[in-house]
Order: sequence, then C-alpha cells, then structure tokens
Amino acid sequence: MLEQDTYKDKGARRQLVNELREKGIIDEKVLDAIHRIPRHQFIHKDFRSHAYLDKAFPIGEGQTISQPYTVAFQTQLLHIEKGDKILEIGTGSGYQAAVLIEMGAELTSIERQEKLYHKTSKLLKAMQYEAALILGDGSKGYEASGPYDKIIVTAGAPRVPESLLQQLKVGGILIIPVGDSKVQTMHTIIKKTDGSVENITLSQFRFVPLIGNQAW
Ligand code: SAM
Repeated sequence: MLEQDTYKDKGARRQLVNELREKGIIDEKVLDAIHRIPRHQFIHKDFRSHAYLDKAFPIGEGQTISQPYTVAFQTQLLHIEKGDKILEIGTGSGYQAAVLIEMGAELTSIERQEKLYHKTSKLLKAMQYEAALILGDGSKGYEASGPYDKIIVTAGAPRVPESLLQQLKVGGILIIPVGDSKVQTMHTIIKKTDGSVENITLSQFRFVPLIGNQAW
C-alpha cells in the first residue's frame, strides 16, 4: 500500500520547506515535521508527481488534502508541545494528523465521511501513526476524550461551535476558519481562566465546508 520514498521525494520536500519559510512559516518544529512526512502517501497516485507543490488536491468524496502552507499556518498557530491533547476536526487524507503526531501530539481526529475514515485509518496504521480516529460529526467536538489542550478545525465553519469552546481546557487554543462558502477568516481563540475567550482574526483561506449539527 505504501509508495517508496525516493531521493527525489526527499529533495522535493526540502524545496517545499524552503518555499514555506519564504511564505512566512517560522516554527522549525512544524517545518521539520513537513520535511519528514512523505506527503505523496496521502495523495492519489495520479497526482504523485505534484505531491510537493504547495497545492491542495482532491482526495475523493468531494474533499481535499489542504495546501501545505495552510497545514503549516494552522499548525504553527497551535504552539504544539509534546504530549498536548489535540482534537482535529476533519481527518480527510490524514496528512494534518501525521504532522500533529510527528510533533508529539496525543491526537483524536474525527471525520464524517465514512469512506475517507476507513481509507485514512488504514493508511495511518500502515505508516505507524497512532491516533484515536473517530467516525462522526466533529462540529459537536468529541466529548468522550475531552477536554483538549488544542483543537484544530480543517473545514470552513459558518460560526464557532459552542461545543468546541466547552471542550477546550482553560489556556487552550482553538484554530478555526470561519466565514461563508467562498472564503473564511482564520481565527485563533484562547480560553482564559475566567472562562472568557480572546478571539484573534488572521488572514483568509478557502476550505471545504464543515457540515454538521453545529455547522452548515
Ligand atoms: N485535515 C485534512 C487533511 O490533512 O487532509 C483536511 C481535509 S478537508 C480540507 C476537510 C475534511 O473535513 C473533509 O475530509 C470533510 O469530510 C471533513 N468534515 C467536514 N465536516 C465535518 C464534520 N462535521 N465532522 C468531521 N469531519 C468533517
């Protein structure tokens, strides 16, 4: 099931990392993880030769593997420490999950598309990435494993789901793109000791929609 990781792939990854640095990614731990992970394993073989371009690609079921810059941007905002308990919403191809695991996260990741859930579960296992993968609606979070140090949403939401705020620890960080179907603004939300939240808005992105009970 796994493709070879060639010298050409490794060289292409080095170039991708340089490109991400030029685009403003400065967290060396994020760049190291991207350098180590064979992104071509997460992409359909038709796109094999483009795996290290800074581009999103279709992964089936009308979904996409996010652009490496977007993965790096969101991951950098999480300020990951080894052992952080993280919830990812939108497992998709599993690439973002691999980045988080490589960085030492204790990961729970939830996906609503059954086919993707099964395919990605097999792939991550074959690559020896350990995570609790859940099939379900992540717009409600996943209370059973919470509360979380960090939550990352990798699909565009119409608003910040209340459940996600509830499942975040005090001092925790939630990264979520919020907007309409065409464009979303990245939000960093920090839960303070008094239970209030600080909401910082950043640049704009374009994600597939977050579909569910507390979403579209
Ligand atoms: N993190 C993914 C990756 O590295 O490939 C990105 C995948 S894609 C941009 C977003 C994913 O979110 C899709 O796989 C989609 O099916 C999933 N999704 C959308 N709404 C969801 C929901 N309510 N709960 C869980 N997953 C959801």
